[in-house]
Amino acid sequence: MGGLSAAIHLRLKGFDVTLYEGNEQVGGRAGQIQADGFTFDTGPSLLNYPWVFEQLFAAAGRRLEDYVTLLPVDPSIRFHKPDGRTLELSSDMTRLVREFTRLDPGCGPGLAAFLADSARKYRLAFDNLVCENFDSPWQWFSALPPWQWLHMGVWRSLHGELKRFFRDELILDALGSYGMYLGGSPQQLPGLFSILPYGELAMGLWLPRGGIYGLVRGVEKLARELGVTIFTSRIVRQISVRDGAVAGLEFADGSSEPWSLVISNVDVPLTQKILLEGSSIKARIPRMTPAVMTFYWGVRGKVAGAGHHSIFLPRDSARAYDQLIRLGQVPDELPFYVAIASETDPSLAPPGDSTVFVLVPLPLPEHQEDWSTLAGSLKQRVLGRLSLHGVRLDPAAIAVERIMSPADWARRCGLYRGSAFGAAHTLLQMGYFRQPNREKRVRGLYYVGASTTPGTGLPMVALGGKMVAERIAADVR
Ligand SMILES: Cc1cc2nc3c(=O)[nH]c(=O)nc-3n(C[C@H](O)[C@H](O)[C@H](O)COP(=O)(O)OP(=O)(O)OC[C@H]3O[C@@H](n4cnc5c(N)ncnc54)[C@H](O)[C@@H]3O)c2cc1C
Repeated sequence: MGGLSAAIHLRLKGFDVTLYEGNEQVGGRAGQIQADGFTFDTGPSLLNYPWVFEQLFAAAGRRLEDYVTLLPVDPSIRFHKPDGRTLELSSDMTRLVREFTRLDPGCGPGLAAFLADSARKYRLAFDNLVCENFDSPWQWFSALPPWQWLHMGVWRSLHGELKRFFRDELILDALGSYGMYLGGSPQQLPGLFSILPYGELAMGLWLPRGGIYGLVRGVEKLARELGVTIFTSRIVRQISVRDGAVAGLEFADGSSEPWSLVISNVDVPLTQKILLEGSSIKARIPRMTPAVMTFYWGVRGKVAGAGHHSIFLPRDSARAYDQLIRLGQVPDELPFYVAIASETDPSLAPPGDSTVFVLVPLPLPEHQEDWSTLAGSLKQRVLGRLSLHGVRLDPAAIAVERIMSPADWARRCGLYRGSAFGAAHTLLQMGYFRQPNREKRVRGLYYVGASTTPGTGLPMVALGGKMVAERIAADVR
């Protein structure tokens, strides 16, 4: 998505753009599996910030809705604790207040204050910090006056920030759980990321018709219409560097092409470690987000007791984060996420059936593991936990099963050690301090995607495409 967005924005600036995709389909992590009438998105399943894609199409004088139909998903996510307590999020304010006050009758004013506070942070962040290319720490810090920096909560943890407004453990746990995808516990990540749950509540959660891949198709179509040349099944083996500048690309089939300007959408650590291997550039490996094991089940019939998005939290989330992120262990009590996209778009499954996607976060693997044994035990644990919550998913009803281990993710998408979401979003890996989208050590080499600025997630990498195009246009001017 980052590469497609960069290609579109560069094309709009008058560049000739060629995109080389190693797989047989574009989309990368946002890929698609089709089997026996079931359609699965491989990675992303939650689409937020639709305005980013509206702006992408508007930049080309088009309307998103002419290419992609977005279906609202509301209520959006239901969180489950092992003791049976649940919390359901919604963009419908009446429903949201009812749900929060059911858990904590006194939390209405806290919820209102949280929404107002995060709305301000969100606006300040997107207007001043997120979408800009910064060249120095000074430029980054002076993007906001000091009193506004204090408001951003970067010096406080996400957990500390949430505790200013809420005291119910489930509410704190649920809103803090977004940290998992950013590579840290809510205790470790900056409080600024309270804008994540806020963004979902304020702007809603969406599913493109046809699944997330419906959005990828729309963006690919736009790129082709604008004249971007796209080659698929074209694996880049090396970025050639001569005299400190990009000289071209070498492909897995032995061919090569001269290029003086290259944007790598392959996750940055892997670009530096593998694609620049022949150069003198030493890879700088940032702290990475966890790996994942993902399951794709085509299920006969409906899965009673579950909506579209469910997150199953452990009893002790702090311990699970510690095991997953600091100790590099599979947590004793597994947090995991389930999406049944056919609940919102029934065309994703044969009539009356269901597409089920399960995501289990795992520590970054140290070495090659016995993935099929681990997958078998994770599946049993997931099914056991589902039945504990009354979600009726009979294993015998699973007609289609596909599994992607961290090794599959690494191989299929070029992910460093299978890290699902790229470089983590700790304080020292955000804004100016994140891997910049220009490789200072190689003239003509740029980056786009989850591990560079502004960060991970479909909307962020799409914004990153615009930012790198602006950077290049300024550099070649
Ligand atoms: C399981 C999972 C669930 C996720 N859930 C969500 C979610 O719900 N919502 C959300 O917004 N985000 C989610 N994300 C994150 C989101 O998918 C990513 O941040 C985003 O898609 C990354 O885009 P990217 O531009 O970095 O490119 P990638 O998706 O990493 O694509 C890189 C492309 O480069 C290609 N490539 C790699 N090596 C080569 C080579 N040598 N030669 C040629 N081509 C090559 C790959 O095939 C791929 O197409 C999820 C990610 C995963 C893995």
